[in-house]
Amino acid sequence: MKHFALAGNPNCGKTTLFNALTGSTAHVGNWPGVTVDKKEGVYKKCKEPISIVDLPGIYSLSPYTPEEIISRNFILDEKPDCIINIVDATNLERNLYLSTQILEIDVPVVIALNMIDLIEKNGDSLDPAALERKLGVPVVCISAAKEENIEKLMDIAYNESLKKRVGTTILESGALSHLIQDCKAAFTGLEVNNPLFHSIKLIENDEIEVQNHKELVKIVEEFKKTFSDDTFGSDLEAIVADGRYQYIAKNLSIAKKKNKEQSETLTTSDKIDKVLTNRWAGIPIFLVILFLIFHLTFSENLFYFPGAIFQSAGVEACFKGSMFKGLFWTEAGINSPGVILFNFLDSITGGITDMVGGWLESAPGWVSGFICDGILGGVFAVLSFIPQILLLFLFFSILEDTGYMARVAFILDRIFRRFGLSGRAFMPMIMGFGCSVPAMINTRTLADQNERTATVRVIPFFSCGAKLPILTAIAGGICQIFHFPSVDLITYSMYLIGILTAIVSVIVMRNTTMRGAVPPFIMELPTYHRPQFKALMIHLWDKLKHYVKKAFTIILVSTILIWFLSHFAWNWRFIDDADMDQSILAGIGQLFTPIFTPLGFGLQLTYKFSWIFVVAAITGLIAKENVIATFGTLAACIIGTIIDVEADGGDVLATVTMIEGTGITWQALIAFIVFNMTTIPCFAAVATAKGELPKKKFWTTILFWLATSYFVSMMIYLVFSWWWTCFIFIAVIVGAGFAIHYYNRYRDNKEIARI
Ligand code: GDP
Ligand code: MG
Repeated sequence: MKHFALAGNPNCGKTTLFNALTGSTAHVGNWPGVTVDKKEGVYKKCKEPISIVDLPGIYSLSPYTPEEIISRNFILDEKPDCIINIVDATNLERNLYLSTQILEIDVPVVIALNMIDLIEKNGDSLDPAALERKLGVPVVCISAAKEENIEKLMDIAYNESLKKRVGTTILESGALSHLIQDCKAAFTGLEVNNPLFHSIKLIENDEIEVQNHKELVKIVEEFKKTFSDDTFGSDLEAIVADGRYQYIAKNLSIAKKKNKEQSETLTTSDKIDKVLTNRWAGIPIFLVILFLIFHLTFSENLFYFPGAIFQSAGVEACFKGSMFKGLFWTEAGINSPGVILFNFLDSITGGITDMVGGWLESAPGWVSGFICDGILGGVFAVLSFIPQILLLFLFFSILEDTGYMARVAFILDRIFRRFGLSGRAFMPMIMGFGCSVPAMINTRTLADQNERTATVRVIPFFSCGAKLPILTAIAGGICQIFHFPSVDLITYSMYLIGILTAIVSVIVMRNTTMRGAVPPFIMELPTYHRPQFKALMIHLWDKLKHYVKKAFTIILVSTILIWFLSHFAWNWRFIDDADMDQSILAGIGQLFTPIFTPLGFGLQLTYKFSWIFVVAAITGLIAKENVIATFGTLAACIIGTIIDVEADGGDVLATVTMIEGTGITWQALIAFIVFNMTTIPCFAAVATAKGELPKKKFWTTILFWLATSYFVSMMIYLVFSWWWTCFIFIAVIVGAGFAIHYYNRYRDNKEIARI
């Protein structure tokens, strides 16, 4: 099978093209650095199937970060049959800088001028034929997003792959031409592949090249002695780079005829940027947008006034008792789209559980208990959150795809820098809101190892999709039992507490174990795009698949296990719901319960059920959905046997049952949420962290998660319960701050003294 590689600058549309060609669903986002690992797929519409590899974006073939090295090594070592070099036509000059380097390799190349739809929309025009004549390789205009011309591109690439191509360079006629010839002869003598490419890299003083061919460095050194350029002296690296840009400006920019209107459309985007990335307004705008998203997803009171009108106008009376109330609105007001969808799905799953319960009426009690509580209770508790999770991700994907998130990274860089991170670290963090696993992998875009470790550690604090059920269900329970005004305010503050914990942790780490300078953050702001419907749907579909799959595998197994452990005593005797406190599960839970007393959900709860929250937190270490699944499974056993609860239904009901059954306080519930949000995320994330972190840092990371979650949730519980304890924590924190500061000064002084 033939192998083609997609190479190009970050954000030029490689992954979009890859998805279109191979029918894959790889992540597309409007910011540089989304793809950090190569991905393979198969294109089937050519004469023979072709394997396509999507590579991380690179600006040049002299790499700095791990993901850039992946691209270079693939292009050089794996010898693809053809490289499709994708060029963002709206940013031609900068993109062609990489093309001039790719052309130096002995490999068939096709240039795909992407985003041609934007060029047409702006009224610009391109002259691909002129470019083709200058570069000597085929040039095809495509639109990856609209899937225009991509079959033609593949046909041309296939034809090229049948030929042989020898690398060419645009530096051939420049001042360095003799040196290039000499080096090339030397490399050819050594029988190195791609002699032209390696010669020029050696001349550029490329780190990897110099290391691999120390014996040839002297050719360049000899030359340097006799050579001096007017502007750059004997800095050959600068001369080469300048040579490329000069050539592009003189010879290749003719391909694009600028339309006058172009400058005007640019200013609209500039104008928007002036507001969104404003020094003072930028962050408040981001926080407001974030709040609106939560409001639309979680609120039971979307608009205050219409809700009141509904009641006063007697509209409610018309529908009284009908299914509309509760689904679309409550006494508090109109439900948000997220809550409406949630209620809808909840009533379906509730109906199914009732129906199955009806069928099993004549079966033995434990059978219906096992099926309705053990299986359906747990799995449905998790599944009913799908609408809200998808809605949240729809909003996030829109922000990402338009290019807004890249702006947020830009504004946050200024602040992040003070904490010891670059704005680049923001991208993996935002991905953490979706799932920690890809987010941790995405930290490969960070060049500094200490910055990377610190980022991997705080990613779980950006509450992921699996933690959303915990937030919503418990926040709902708090509102119902303790009469808090709004669910979305609680969820929003919980997300903020997570972010705050992340910031404080980074400050501490960057001043203690993870010290080091913050690398500079250079990122171009991507142009604003209208979000692509297809890309959004791919995102959501992926998320849905992943979540449902988890519900029916790991969550299902866990709930079944929990049901059995909670219905058998140590001597394998089956026990009734009412005696659940004698079960194996209760025994295990009681073992750990004392540890959680300072967090509010330990020994102070009603003895019979004090272990439930602890068990839920422990099962959550496997996967966070387990927390609510555990409630779902166990709640059904408590209801009816011990207490009488009245609630809206569904999973809030499960939580309400837990609250009534244990007598837990709202302060402890908040602490419980915070504990789950900041502790060991889940098995999958732990495994990923193990792969991404240096060996020595893995166990300390686990310890770090446990310690942080314990400390933060204890602080929350104590301060909320007894406000004056805040003085103790302030003293501890200030003391620790001073200690770190003075210790660092002492260490730095010692260092200076040594030098
Ligand atoms: P990569 O970093 O090179 O993999 O780029 P992506 O495939 O992630 O795409 C970056 C952004 O460009 C996304 O917002 C895409 O929707 C957008 N995009 C990609 N191809 C096109 C195109 O042909 N036309 C337009 N208008 N947008 C595109
Ligand atoms: Mg990509």
